Amino acid sequence: MLSFKVHAHDSTARSGLLTTAHGVIETPAFMTVGTLGAAKGLTPAVLREHGAQVLLMNAFHLAWRPGEKLVQELGGLHRFSGWDGPILTDSGGFQIFSLPGLRKITEDGALFASPTDGAVRNFSPEAVVEIETALGADMIMMLDQCPAFPFKPGDLEEAVERSIRWAQRGTKRWRELLRQDMPTPSSTADARGPVSPSPLAGEGRGGGTFGVGLPPTLPSPSRGAGKPADVNLFGIIQGGFDEKLRARSIESTCALDLPGYALGGFCVGEPIEATHAGIAMSASKLPADRPRYLMGMGSPQDILYAIGQGLDLFDCTLPTRNGRNGMAFTSQGPLRLRNARHAKDAGPLDPACNCYTCRTFSRAFLRHLFLAREMNAAILASLHNVAFYLNLMQGARRAIREGRFEAHRKEFLARYGQAGEGPDESEDEE
Ligand SMILES: [Zn+2]
Repeated sequence: MLSFKVHAHDSTARSGLLTTAHGVIETPAFMTVGTLGAAKGLTPAVLREHGAQVLLMNAFHLAWRPGEKLVQELGGLHRFSGWDGPILTDSGGFQIFSLPGLRKITEDGALFASPTDGAVRNFSPEAVVEIETALGADMIMMLDQCPAFPFKPGDLEEAVERSIRWAQRGTKRWRELLRQDMPTPSSTADARGPVSPSPLAGEGRGGGTFGVGLPPTLPSPSRGAGKPADVNLFGIIQGGFDEKLRARSIESTCALDLPGYALGGFCVGEPIEATHAGIAMSASKLPADRPRYLMGMGSPQDILYAIGQGLDLFDCTLPTRNGRNGMAFTSQGPLRLRNARHAKDAGPLDPACNCYTCRTFSRAFLRHLFLAREMNAAILASLHNVAFYLNLMQGARRAIREGRFEAHRKEFLARYGQAGEGPDESEDEE
């Protein structure tokens, strides 16, 4: 099971250790997005080397392709994806309601037609928990209903009430699967061996040497296979920006006594002030002894804001998506690598970054790669952007431990406003 210990507080910000069956996560932590089992363009080895601690994958997409049964047969998501550290799977609730193929949403769940063969499948709260348990992630998300902004009258209430009922059903199913997996006296010795040590930033295990002349040997699928007892269900809070509805959602969802809780329903097109107010009003009401995950946002500024409010886990597609589109996050603000001003720039992408891209290549070379549509352009920019987010979290953790988080946040924001090449607005599906 999951264990979470907060080791440092700084006002409402906090830093701690989240222990899973596949390793320890230092919080606050950024979860690199690997929707289909891989972060786009980045191998697990490269992610490790740059301090990635945990990956986020999408159970809904994996259930269609290649299917959770196949993943389970081949040893679970860790073995299948080659990422042996902690994994969180999203139920896909956020995307489900806007994806093509949706046939119908009923109280029972969401009916979907397969994008490949048209077969219809019901994503009920129980089915989603079963899919995620079969995949074997360390942390799994409940199916919830996330309304789109602007909300129509009654949308929010309906989403909150239905999400609560779905959470109750999902939790019931999760507890049944847990009970079935309870160890019998003869099977208490765990064949998987000890928990992996923390993949602390800068101490990656991916930089090892490669054997020469040896045939490749993959671990057997049975190693690393997830067990229901290691799969931890998180509840999702809805309620938009309505204080009463959020409070209602928090009260009923937290009554389920789950290993962790997430704030959902943000980043649906609302103004950022509303998001910040919603985060602030929710965070303080969540149980202090459970990890708190802010789903699917956002910019470095937003993440620092939410860390200040006491959130622990984050994910966002911006680092890889913008990287592919030639936009890089730097300590002085975002920049666009295709811009002519970088044509003769022999300097690194970000002088404050020590990632492989920044250690090795000039801005001029990276710009050349983007203009030439060379695939290394997207890979190298994505790598830097992910490293930037990982460094952002490392800096926040250190500042919290040293009791200077707010000053650190202000310094970051002052520096970050300098570059003036706005974020890329282009949409590219993650
Ligand atoms: Zn870099």
